[in-house]
Amino acid sequence: MGMNENIKYDCVIIGSGPAGLTAAIYQARADIKTIVIAGNQPGGQLTITPMVENYPGFPDGVGGFKLMMDTQTQVKKLGVEIKGGLVHQVHQVESSSSFEVELESGEVLQSKTVIVATGAGVKWLGLPKEQELIGHGISSCATCDGMFFRDKTVAVVGGGDTACEDAVFLAKFTKKVFMIVRREEFRASAAEQKKVLDNEKIEIWWSSEVKELNGEEKLESVKILNNKTEKETILPLDGMFVAVGYSPATKFLEGLVKLKEMGQIVVGKNEKLVTMASVEGIFAAGDCVNENHRQAILAAGEGCRAALETQKWLKER
Ligand code: NAP
Repeated sequence: MGMNENIKYDCVIIGSGPAGLTAAIYQARADIKTIVIAGNQPGGQLTITPMVENYPGFPDGVGGFKLMMDTQTQVKKLGVEIKGGLVHQVHQVESSSSFEVELESGEVLQSKTVIVATGAGVKWLGLPKEQELIGHGISSCATCDGMFFRDKTVAVVGGGDTACEDAVFLAKFTKKVFMIVRREEFRASAAEQKKVLDNEKIEIWWSSEVKELNGEEKLESVKILNNKTEKETILPLDGMFVAVGYSPATKFLEGLVKLKEMGQIVVGKNEKLVTMASVEGIFAAGDCVNENHRQAILAAGEGCRAALETQKWLKER
């Protein structure tokens, strides 16, 4: 089937984190006509990470915001158009073997291929009052909201790298940090665990789950269940930071490509095009694909591969 030459773009990249922007760099250098749809947080999740210490090439670390803004500058210098906003839906147009990417603004972009690099969003606990109390004691972003809790008592829920990083960050200026961990061990890397265990301001409650949120105008206390002893405790708190993981931002693809139960895009059926999704011509990279290992460098690497694979796919058509 021949490609329709009237299709405006060779590639629409959805997402502007490390995966999307790296894909854009590779497309530009290969003369692939590309546009990036930047989403509602241009630069992605890294832009709210104060210090990235595991991205190669930065012996003293690099600010997440700076890293992403510099990458964005690199992409723009290469002549790639970056457009703000969210994608509402992607339609496959079989007659011209292309896609229509419909933005929430109503604008429709026609493209021969799509790279999905939408990353992931915060996972909440799902308790009553949780959504109402966001911004009133409940937050998912210690680096954004931590400053409001100077000399106050806060808790971090979760036992992964994010929770450990958040706890150590908050301990710098709050009065006390509780960590509420549902198992008897962390999921975090050894390096992040050690920083928590060495910090006297952090008190860890193992085998503990938040069961209830109390407070009207703002969070006042939480009910915690010890799932070993079944003992319940009311813990007074000024703030609670939820750090229990992320879910992929792929809802807009439901019904188009195959997704895993938790929403990750299924890729890799074609062993020569391992970033291709279940629909030919749609590729995916980064946190919207991966269940584990939410890492910037991995997302960047996958973005590179997705670009190279779209190029190969387009050439073979
Ligand atoms: P994560 O690794 O998925 O850890 C989630 C944590 O929350 C686990 O302790 C989990 O407990 C707990 N949890 C999940 N659902 C829960 C619920 N409903 N109630 C209570 N606890 C719950 O998530 P993350 O820490 O956000 O990290 C995500 C990815 O980003 C990981 O791959 C991580 O390595 C990476 N990351 C890396 C860095 C770094 O390299 N410095 C920094 C941040 C994040 P269980 O263990 O019992 O499941």
